[in-house]
Amino acid sequence: MIILALDALDVRMVEKYGCRSLMQVEYGQTDLSEFELERTVVLWASFLTGRNMEAEIPVETQWEFTLKPEETFLKFFETYKALDVPAFSLKQENHKRERVLLKKYFDDEVSVEEYDETVWRNHEENKREFFEALGRFDLVMGYFDLADAIGHLSFGIPAKMEAVYRELEGIAKEVKSSVDDVILVISDHGMKPVGRYGDHTKNGFYSFNRRVGLNLPKITEFFNIIRRLVQVERSG
Ligand SMILES: [Zn+2]
Repeated sequence: MIILALDALDVRMVEKYGCRSLMQVEYGQTDLSEFELERTVVLWASFLTGRNMEAEIPVETQWEFTLKPEETFLKFFETYKALDVPAFSLKQENHKRERVLLKKYFDDEVSVEEYDETVWRNHEENKREFFEALGRFDLVMGYFDLADAIGHLSFGIPAKMEAVYRELEGIAKEVKSSVDDVILVISDHGMKPVGRYGDHTKNGFYSFNRRVGLNLPKITEFFNIIRRLVQVERSG
């Protein structure tokens, strides 16, 4: 199985830019109504464990929060690569650098271009490692924060967001052409413009390259969906 974990990928933006490879065979919105806030780490942790983790993850220390593999659906796979996954294998240094630059931007100490450059550099690093891992593990889960990180400072700037969605569409297209496996594209939450900036919304996204027949699934439902898909593959 391949999981493309795309932070803040928004269903309306995928449709707006006609990203066919991200939409795949079945796509839709996820139901985040059980969550009070759309916090990135909480939502990925809940996706990984199949449980609402909101009460268990304090805001102050959320980025350091780390699950054990046996608490997650990763245990259903004999081999896996979980690349830069929040609440599991997050590249602390890369993300800390992004958060520091974000703060410096609001303190007028760096330009948006300097921030964007770091985000794109981290993205390229993950992309390289993701495609290196493809085909070498039972599960490859690659996390990309591009839409979230660029979106926070530039969601209201169409040209920038189009470039982001074209890039993510390109990754999905390349995955589809290079492996014959179950592909799940999933986001934690969506995004909406606030002036030039962007803020999290409950418009999460999912898609599969086969008909699974979901209807507004909760993000916590994927744990069992993934377990079933693994069983089907084994018995098939
Ligand atoms: Zn997020």
